[in-house]
Amino acid sequence: MSVKSESDEEFRTRFRAFLQESHPGRGPKDPPERIAWQRAWQATMFDRGFAGPSWPVEYGGMDLSFPKQVIYQEELTRARVPRALGTGQGIVAPTIIAYGTQDQRNRWLAPMLRGDKIWVQGYSEPGAGSDLPGLTTSARREGDEYIVNGQKIWTTQGPLADVIFALVRTGTRESRQEGITYLVIDAHAPGVQIRELRDITGGHAFGEIYFDDVRVPVADRIGEENGGWPLVRTSLGHERAAGAMNQAANYRRVLDEFIELLRDRGLDRDPLVRDRIAELETEVRIMRYNAIRVISDIVAKGEPGPASSVSRLLITGFEQRLHEFAVEALGPAGLVGRGSVHAVQRGRWLYGFLRTRASTIGAGTAEIQRNTVAEQVLRLPRDPGMPARV
Ligand SMILES: Cc1cc2nc3c(=O)[nH]c(=O)nc-3n(C[C@H](O)[C@H](O)[C@H](O)COP(=O)(O)OP(=O)(O)OC[C@H]3O[C@@H](n4cnc5c(N)ncnc54)[C@H](O)[C@@H]3O)c2cc1C
Repeated sequence: MSVKSESDEEFRTRFRAFLQESHPGRGPKDPPERIAWQRAWQATMFDRGFAGPSWPVEYGGMDLSFPKQVIYQEELTRARVPRALGTGQGIVAPTIIAYGTQDQRNRWLAPMLRGDKIWVQGYSEPGAGSDLPGLTTSARREGDEYIVNGQKIWTTQGPLADVIFALVRTGTRESRQEGITYLVIDAHAPGVQIRELRDITGGHAFGEIYFDDVRVPVADRIGEENGGWPLVRTSLGHERAAGAMNQAANYRRVLDEFIELLRDRGLDRDPLVRDRIAELETEVRIMRYNAIRVISDIVAKGEPGPASSVSRLLITGFEQRLHEFAVEALGPAGLVGRGSVHAVQRGRWLYGFLRTRASTIGAGTAEIQRNTVAEQVLRLPRDPGMPARV
C-alpha cells in the first residue's frame, strides 16, 4: 500500500512499528561515537523511506499530507530517537527546492537528508546578527569561482560541518541587502577554519568559521548574484517553522514527565505548584495549535509567513518558563548538575535551564520576532530601528 492511499491511523501504526523494530537504543556517551550513532540512524530512516516528511519523493522525501506530518512528528518524539544532525534540512533544503537548479537539487538534497553530509548555517557575524544586512564576509568573482574572505559566528554544530550555507557580500559595502549572495561552501575546502565555542552548559554546540581565500565554484551559488536576500526570508521563515511541530510534540512529553516528577516528590499537592502547572498546560496546548497553523500555512501557501514568528515566541518563552519553574520547584536539588549522585534525573532540568537562556536569541531574538509580529501580523507602524523585513 502506498503512503498516499493508507489512512492516517494506518500510517501511524506502520511508522510506530518501524520505530520500535529499528530503534537504535541508547546512544553512546563518547562524542565521536555518538555522532556516528546519530548519522547511522539518519541513514536507516532514509534507506527505509522514513526521512523528509515534507520533502518531494524524488529527493528521498515522503511528501506526506499535513495530518500525516503531524503524526510523524508526534511518533518521532514518542519514540525518543535521535534527531537529524546539522541545520540544513529545515532551513536551506526548502530554499534549494524553491530556488536551486535541478543540478543542485540532485547533488545536494539526498546526501543531506541521509546524513552523509552535515550542513550548517553561516549567516551571523560578530558585527551582523539582528542587523544581518550589515554582513561583511566578502566573495569576489574570479572566472567561474568566488574567493571568500571573512568570519561567521554562533554556527550551530559548526564543528561537525561538511557544508556551510552562507550569506556573503558581493556588492559594495553600502549595498546592504541588495549586495548579498547565497553560497554553498565546502567546509573541508582549503582556507576554511572552524573553531569550537564553549557555551554556558559547558558543551560545544557552536562554532566560529574563518574563510581565508576560499575558492567556491559559481555553480554552488543559489539564485542570482546579489539576489540572496529574498532567499534569506524563505530560509529564516522555515527555520522558525521547522522547530514548531516537533518542539510542540516534544514539550507535550517533557511537561508530562515534569508533572510525573512533581508527583513522585509530593509537590503536586501544593496549590501554587498546581497553578503554575495549569499555566504551562495551557501554553503547551496553544503551542500545538499554533504549530498546526504554521504547517498549514506552508502546505497552503508554500511559505510559513509571519505566524512562524508567533510560534517561535511562544515556544522559546515556554521552554524558559518551564525550566525556570522546574529548577525553582526542585529547590537545592534542582541546582545539582550531571555527574553528581545528588542530581535529579541526571541534571536534565538544570541543563535545560542553562540551555534555554539562548532560546530567545537564536533564529532572531525575541525583540526582532516581536517587531515582525507587530509590523506584519498586527500592521503596526514600522520600527525605524529594524534593518529590513525578514
Ligand atoms: C542557540 C543559538 C543558535 C544559533 N545558531 C546560529 C547558526 O546556526 N547560524 C548563524 O548564522 N547564527 C546562529 N545564531 C546567531 C543568532 O542568529 C544571533 O545571535 C542573533 O541573530 C542575534 O544577533 P547578535 O547575537 O549579533 O545580537 P545583536 O543583534 O547585537 O542584538 C543584541 C541585543 O539588541 C537587540 N536588538 C538588536 N536590534 C534590535 C532592534 N531593531 N529592535 C529591538 N531590539 C534590537 C537584540 O534583540 C538583542 O537583545 C545562533 C544563536 C543562538 C543563541
